[in-house]
Amino acid sequence: MSSLPSMKLSAGAADFIDEAYLFGLLGGKRPEAARVRDIIAKSLEKQALGVEETAQLLLADTPELVEEIFAAARELKEKVYGNRIVLFAPLYIGNKCVNDCAYCAFKRSNASAIRRTLTEGEIRGQVEALESKGHKRLILVFGEHQAYDAEFIAQSVRTVYDTRGKGEIRRVNINAAPLDREGYAIVKAAGIGTYQIFHETYHHETYARLHPRGTRKANYLYRLDGLNRAFEAGCDDVGLGVLFGLVDWRFEVLGLVSHALHLQRRYNVGPHTISFPRLRPAAGVALDRELLVGDQEFKRIIAILRLAVPYTGLILTARENAQVRRECISLGVSQIDAGSRIELGGYTEAGDAQVMEREQFSLGDVRSLDEVMAELMGAGYIPSFCTSCYRVGRTGEHFMEFSIPGFIKEFCTPNALLTLQEYLLDYASPSTREIGDRLIAEELAKLVDGHGKQGVVQRLKEIREGAQRDH
Ligand code: SAM
Ligand code: SF4
Repeated sequence: MSSLPSMKLSAGAADFIDEAYLFGLLGGKRPEAARVRDIIAKSLEKQALGVEETAQLLLADTPELVEEIFAAARELKEKVYGNRIVLFAPLYIGNKCVNDCAYCAFKRSNASAIRRTLTEGEIRGQVEALESKGHKRLILVFGEHQAYDAEFIAQSVRTVYDTRGKGEIRRVNINAAPLDREGYAIVKAAGIGTYQIFHETYHHETYARLHPRGTRKANYLYRLDGLNRAFEAGCDDVGLGVLFGLVDWRFEVLGLVSHALHLQRRYNVGPHTISFPRLRPAAGVALDRELLVGDQEFKRIIAILRLAVPYTGLILTARENAQVRRECISLGVSQIDAGSRIELGGYTEAGDAQVMEREQFSLGDVRSLDEVMAELMGAGYIPSFCTSCYRVGRTGEHFMEFSIPGFIKEFCTPNALLTLQEYLLDYASPSTREIGDRLIAEELAKLVDGHGKQGVVQRLKEIREGAQRDH
């Protein structure tokens, strides 16, 4: 216990980010509309795009072409994922950190940060609070520190699964430093869902500048290789991400696509999710305003990623404010967090106030889960707490959705409705329940007779009757 992992790379580890090539692609001229439309058509056929094709979409910057890309992203999302949105919440376990990442308030040089690691009892308290709101999926977040070794992460995961308050957490994802192979095997055995590692920036010089020498995170290749080692240790459910606002956003999109293609080629499985956090104000952090990504560019990032990696879930976090989230979801997002608190102990201790000294950065959307649920449903989305696919192994979510024709209609939508019904009965406010009941009725009307519809109607009835008996 209590040692950082070795810095051993995976077999055949290599730096697969060809910076000169990617910048070269972005140096090209704006593509003909016909070429852009061909690429869009390929994507609408659910085929992943190459980096060169993705670069063409990034270069297509006239208002007309941007609108066509947005429309295609909406269509692909609707066609492929339907109108479901998966909900989760982050749970920060500890903010001690040996690194000094320039953009993060947890960096070791930030003396004003209040350092804390939740005890087992405190984790249970946070989880009970989250369960009492209706959450079923969490992502556990850790700084990088000897105290947070694989065994500690695994134990935290076990504690979460084992905590039963008013509900249960059915899926626990991780966002933590890269591990060695032994470490991944340990966290995998604890039953984790996705292991996320954000590369922050794929640009070598910027990466070196923001992650000072002598810190663990300074090793670009070790981090880049982090998910290779995960795969080789049997963790084949992984998430990529970039912290947008550090360098030209178009380059970072190509970096993400290169990384996704690398995993697909080498392990035959692409990333489960991609996250695209935008840099937020944080205690002790000076932002380079020139590189910050504007809202319109942010939408282009989401839409182009949607088209480039149709098999991959896209996560939009509460770093973004409610208005931006509203506008962006339709462009291809499949998961959002809601009711999030990112200060240690924030689900029971901080109330609604955000406390800078306790946070990694400040959140843009601090609305409750209930409020977000009401808004999503009002806009015609089905918030889903379903975790069934995950239980059947690596061919879970997204992969099933794509590879099995009709899977979404026959499996995902009904499951989303059933988990939504449970939420409405057990956790929703009266006004949210009303909106939800209406949505369920509308969605039921859309289900085709004979395709399991009767089964769904029956299950919904049982859930309602069960709730009546319980109350
Ligand atoms: N410490 C681990 C690491 O760095 O990989 C785990 C997670 S870190 C707590 C989570 C992510 O938050 C980082 O990967 C980074 O992308 C993001 N982050 C850090 N500072 C941020 C800021 N000021 N605004 C938005 N996101 C930030
Ligand atoms: Fe530590 Fe992660 Fe923050 Fe870097 S981003 S300072 S590694 S918590």
